[in-house]
Amino acid sequence: MSSNNPARTISERFSTEAKSYRNYIGGRFAEPSASQIDVLNPATGAVVGRVPESTAQEVDAAVRAAKAAQPSWEQLPAIERAGHLRAISAKLRRHRTELADIIVREQGKIRSLAQVEVDFTADYIDYMAEWARRLEGEVLTSDRPKETMLLLRKPIGVVAGILPWNFPFFLIARKMAPALVTGNTIVIKPSEETPINAFVFAELVAETDLPAGVFNLVGGKGPGAGTALVKHPDVDLVTFTGSVATGTRIMQMAAENLTRVNLELGGKAPAIVLADADLDLAAKAIHASRVINTGQVCNCAERLYVEEPVHDALIAKLKVLFEQTRWGDPSETDDLDMGPLINRAALDKVEAAVRKATEEGARIVTGGNVTGQDKGHHFEPTLIVGATAAMEIMRRETFGPVLPVQAVKNLDEAIALANDTEYGLTSSIYTSNINSALRASRELKFGETYINRENFEAMQGFHAGRRKSGIGGADGKHGLYEFTETHVIYIQGQ
Ligand code: NAD
Repeated sequence: MSSNNPARTISERFSTEAKSYRNYIGGRFAEPSASQIDVLNPATGAVVGRVPESTAQEVDAAVRAAKAAQPSWEQLPAIERAGHLRAISAKLRRHRTELADIIVREQGKIRSLAQVEVDFTADYIDYMAEWARRLEGEVLTSDRPKETMLLLRKPIGVVAGILPWNFPFFLIARKMAPALVTGNTIVIKPSEETPINAFVFAELVAETDLPAGVFNLVGGKGPGAGTALVKHPDVDLVTFTGSVATGTRIMQMAAENLTRVNLELGGKAPAIVLADADLDLAAKAIHASRVINTGQVCNCAERLYVEEPVHDALIAKLKVLFEQTRWGDPSETDDLDMGPLINRAALDKVEAAVRKATEEGARIVTGGNVTGQDKGHHFEPTLIVGATAAMEIMRRETFGPVLPVQAVKNLDEAIALANDTEYGLTSSIYTSNINSALRASRELKFGETYINRENFEAMQGFHAGRRKSGIGGADGKHGLYEFTETHVIYIQGQ
């Protein structure tokens, strides 16, 4: 157990008092940082807690700790590394309700979804731990007599994980678990919007026997701590989830040291509804996908293409569902479909996108307004028809509870419009015709396609974006391999 773990009771750790947290570096909670970031509840504006605004020196200390710990961590049998991961997931399960409360308070997620996030995170860590006995190399056939060729998979070294705010807790595991089971060590920098869940995660890690320096956490903003981490010469892989703009910047900075990058970026997922679809199923799934996490999900349906014969019927069904959506402050009420947007800038962005769409000729069927402005950043669930391919609302990620709809003549047109985008993460299609579904699977140019359902990717899948939605991917065997590099051994026999 780590030595200078601040002696805090469970109720103190999870109390609703705004507290100041400390970086977790080399198995110790560091001295308080000179500068702190106030973390706000997006539903109320109240300060939830304070985290360090780390300097380049503090980031350097974390990377050095990770580097020092890596060789002996790599030497541990993988099954022992997995044991450490399982000890962490057990801690998360023990405190599942309190952890969900934190996510509700700092991210504005509704409680049921926050609970799913915590439980999925624990399951994800266990899933990655299972790979300990399954990581395999290869024996290759040599061109030379008496030679044996081995391809080994090895850890990359020190991983930097830079996180967004929309699934802040799960993203810790998505970076940490595959990194650690394959023998890397890690430094995590959570989003400055939602860091507290990560600092509490570190406190739970500190209560396990994980060797010092294997998991490190630094608070801070993008241009400060984030930049210092990406540019650090001892970081071997930057795994980043966030916006295209930041991903581009990170790739540029990583190029200075030729540091590897794994980028999970934004999306503008098209949903296609054909005339033979089950319209009730499609309406329910697309509505849920649009309001989940208040529309702040990278692989939610962000634009809808509907075959003309069923356009009006589908819109009527969607209108009912959009108008039934319950929203409010999730820290006060459980019975909600969505909470606030993350901050004022997000609210302004969504409002501007809707205004621009109407100026360009689209029509609001329902919603379209900022609401509850004095308390939280709420925007009404908004359904828009008459959208066209040229409109910005069909081209740029909105990241809010807004669904623009375009009528199409047929599947040909729908696929062409869906593919006409700079993103390439997720897509979906609703049809009862197997041939249409198969054709969409062949021709949609996205990392994932959902047929007759919307997002929630599986941990054994491979969540990867094409074009500007990213480089590399996460989850499953292929996601695990992103944290390894190969080493070919030639053994010349006599
Ligand atoms: P963001 O790019 O603003 O910030 C993400 C992280 O990058 C934060 O921790 C931030 O501090 C850091 N950062 C910012 N500037 C930096 C810099 N110059 N150097 C280093 N780090 C820097 O993204 P966000 O607003 O937190 O997240 C929302 C975005 O994330 C959306 O575009 C969404 O689609 C995307 N996202 C993608 C996936 C996926 O799997 N593809 C999943 C979740 C979210």
